Amino acid sequence: MLRLLCITAHPDDEAGGFGGSLLLYHNRGVETFVTCLTPGQAARHRGNAASGEELASLRRQEFARSCELLKVKHGEVLDYPDAGLDKLNFYSVVEGLVRRIRQIRPHVVLTFGSEGGVTAHPDHSMASLFATAAFHWAGRSNRFIEQVEKEKLEPHQAQKLYYATADFILPDRQPVSLPPATATIDIAEYFEKKIEAFKQHTTQAPLFPLFEGRMRKGRPVEKFHLVASSTPREIAYETDLLAGVVE
Ligand SMILES: [Zn+2]
Repeated sequence: MLRLLCITAHPDDEAGGFGGSLLLYHNRGVETFVTCLTPGQAARHRGNAASGEELASLRRQEFARSCELLKVKHGEVLDYPDAGLDKLNFYSVVEGLVRRIRQIRPHVVLTFGSEGGVTAHPDHSMASLFATAAFHWAGRSNRFIEQVEKEKLEPHQAQKLYYATADFILPDRQPVSLPPATATIDIAEYFEKKIEAFKQHTTQAPLFPLFEGRMRKGRPVEKFHLVASSTPREIAYETDLLAGVVE
């Protein structure tokens, strides 16, 4: 059984950035996991929430409904502060992600690029940096050694790390420098479900027309950049995130 772990920053990232691929790989028999670092309590769009706490609770429920539609085996929302990931202790966030990687033992890890995706959100950038360090350090027996010795967690080296990327930038935002795509995943079969999953995030409803309009303008694909591979290789354009992955 192959396993795929997706590390995101906010509820709705899992659907907007990775939804088609999560569904596609589920349908291919892969167990999928999502770890979302914040409950999104600092969002501009707040539904009817009267407080950050209330918004966090609503968004956790929306995340659960989205993960259900995307057939995610286990989705979790951690409690780090939305819009505050850049102020956290790097080592301690990475420690938590390394623990998850050593527990879940994914073959492939997906996250944002360090630019923060097309929105350049600093939380996306930080999710990328945390996830990248965790991908590498989870496999080393001399990193977070207390997990290995006291918690009896075996080091685990996932085989591939991908950053989500795109072949467009948003016209009304400052430009971002996206990682070049090295993989294009055809999600045509899952396109409508991806949009439906995004729309489970009803507190973010003002974003729906923008998101859907952008999605329907391009081809139904998700693009990724291969960042790291446990097997040394030359870059080759891929149409499958599991290419070369062994159980
Ligand atoms: Zn986000």
